[in-house]
Amino acid sequence: MPEVLNLKSKIENALPAELASLMKAAGKLACEQGQGLYLVGGVVRDLMLGQKNFDLDLVVEGDAIRLAEKLSKIKKGKLSIYPHFGTAKLEWKEWSVDLATARSETYAKPGALPSTKPSTLAQDLSRRDFTINTMAIHLDPSRFGELIDLHSGRDDLENKIIRVLHERSFIDDATRIWRGIRYEKRLDFRLEENTLKLLKQDISMLDTISGDRIRYELECVFKEESPEKALRRAEELGVLAKLHPALRATSWLAQKFKVARKFSHPDLPSFELYLAILTYPLNSKEKEELISYLNLPKPIAKTLRDSTNIKSELVALAKAELKPSRIYRILHGYAPAAVQANLLGSDSQLAGENIQLFLNKLRYLKPVLSGKDLIRTGIPSGPRIKEILEQLLEAKLDGKVTTRKDEEDLVKR
Ligand code: ATP
Repeated sequence: MPEVLNLKSKIENALPAELASLMKAAGKLACEQGQGLYLVGGVVRDLMLGQKNFDLDLVVEGDAIRLAEKLSKIKKGKLSIYPHFGTAKLEWKEWSVDLATARSETYAKPGALPSTKPSTLAQDLSRRDFTINTMAIHLDPSRFGELIDLHSGRDDLENKIIRVLHERSFIDDATRIWRGIRYEKRLDFRLEENTLKLLKQDISMLDTISGDRIRYELECVFKEESPEKALRRAEELGVLAKLHPALRATSWLAQKFKVARKFSHPDLPSFELYLAILTYPLNSKEKEELISYLNLPKPIAKTLRDSTNIKSELVALAKAELKPSRIYRILHGYAPAAVQANLLGSDSQLAGENIQLFLNKLRYLKPVLSGKDLIRTGIPSGPRIKEILEQLLEAKLDGKVTTRKDEEDLVKR
């Protein structure tokens, strides 16, 4: 009999006291209700790896909603329940926990969302993507902290291996192709030989996945610390070409992503900024194809189109001593992420400086006087007001007026 690993002290040391105490309370309640309760998935993997992860996923053998309702009386906060899925989310203070009824899944056809039914923990774990994500921990008071490892996740974790549970895994759900690549690069693991073979063999199954779900996978890639690594691997495996054949994960891209992170620090670059950089070399037709494939929301589609339009103005922006008002006229109205993508993408130092001037200063400038102020001075309301405001803005951009008095004098003139 292999020795059972107990992670109680890891739970107490690695997780905030509030979360550890929640799990103990939940384990006790579940036991009183005669239900089995387990901590599962990514948080178990990361506990074993010593990596920070506070996203608690609990699986209940029985009825997760019944447990969540009881639990919400102890940890008072917001309880959201989803009866259709048998899941609940409890949020209190700055914390949250997801509870799900153990379920098994069947796939009516490849790529379709699975149909589910309540089941055991073992069934629930066997529907998961990779062995390293199948480990669970007992939360029942009598066995609190004991590791459940039905698919040798612990061995694979130690050997730094990403392994699917069965041969049809990528056929059932090809989003696992992107997930596998992401884990491989995030954790610096490697896709196990047979898993890699299956992945390559089943790449065409990505065609069975809706654009919305692929977009979600790409969003997850962009939330990684270094998305360029996953994109590079995706290119190598022929997965990036499935997004669009014109996409490339070059060293140019890696370098631009790094600069984008510096720009955005302490936040991560937004999805649209990363996407605008990734698609920067694409022409307008190729971008339209990607927009429709990924079913991109309108503002993000606009960013990609804006980026192309700005690119066609780069020659005009690459002039020395360009009047600030001219720079403003060229760039005003475009999505900021599209402007930033061009700052990163342009090879011209002059264009870069002008774009930077716009981003850091010009786009924030406004005349002190408002339309109402102008009407108060006796100018009749109508199109004339707009014209004067435009002239005031132009003068302000070009440094011809700075104070309110300057603006009033200009209006008089
Ligand atoms: P992360 O992977 O970002 O660290 P996580 O491991 O918690 O977080 P989620 O995407 O939140 O991953 O999913 C939770 C768990 O659900 C995973 O650990 C995995 O076991 C399972 N899972 C998620 N997506 C799939 C999928 N497409 N196929 C099978 N199992 C999945």
